[in-house]
Amino acid sequence: MSLLQTRHLTVERGGAAIVDDINLDIQTGELVMLVGPNGAGKSTLLQRLAGVQPPSRGSIHLQGQATAEWRHQDWAQALAYLPQLSPLNFPLSVREVVQLGALPHSHSVVTLRRQVQEALERWDIHWLADRDVRLLSGGEQQRCQLARSWLQMQAPPSRLWLLDEPLSALDLRHQQQCLQQLRATAGAGKAVLMVAHDLNLARRHADRVLLLCCGRLVADGKPREVLTAAQVAAVFGVQTHLDGDWLHW
Ligand code: ADP
Ligand code: MG
Repeated sequence: MSLLQTRHLTVERGGAAIVDDINLDIQTGELVMLVGPNGAGKSTLLQRLAGVQPPSRGSIHLQGQATAEWRHQDWAQALAYLPQLSPLNFPLSVREVVQLGALPHSHSVVTLRRQVQEALERWDIHWLADRDVRLLSGGEQQRCQLARSWLQMQAPPSRLWLLDEPLSALDLRHQQQCLQQLRATAGAGKAVLMVAHDLNLARRHADRVLLLCCGRLVADGKPREVLTAAQVAAVFGVQTHLDGDWLHW
């Protein structure tokens, strides 16, 4: 049984399908990257998988159970979703924001304190813990949100981590650390589905790549089979060539 399964998932806006008839299976242990041009429907698809809004048509099952059948609390324990943008306009400290990740779960005070500290250290924001989150740089805010979401994924019922462009604001070292955390999560009997723009990074680090174009899933498979020069030209309109294992343009 797939951890996550969609059948004929469709989202319509003004009569047009912006996510169109998506059939998708995500298995435990996988790190899957969703790629595609701006406006392809990646964020819309991820939002619907996260249950933010129901799709116009089609089904989503998590652990064999249709989304509508889940209780809110159980859903928030099973799945964590990091949107593309999570602006914060409240005077919360970094520690308080990270701690929000524990809300769906019931931790003892001691466990909570230990896990929040671990999240702060893993995401390299321990030294910012008491700062007002609105005063952080873009990359620091991103790590704060990642730490919150990571914390939500730590309790045992959590199975699926959905992240929309988690690497976009991160420098190289923090991208590497983030990928390590995502890989470790997938390796811990869970699954990760993330949006990425760096095709070479997807070729190297994903177990599987989903290529979305104009709302349709045009390819789903091993990174090097999906992200060929021909496919990149067809979907992104950019001529590339392979140099070793590297796509150049
Ligand atoms: P991506 O994340 O791949 O860049 P999105 O999923 O954000 O793309 O958007 C897909 C398409 O749907 C875009 O053309 C976008 O303008 C459109 N869209 C997204 N949300 C809405 C909305 N609420 N109303 C109308 N159009 C929308
Ligand atoms: Mg997007």
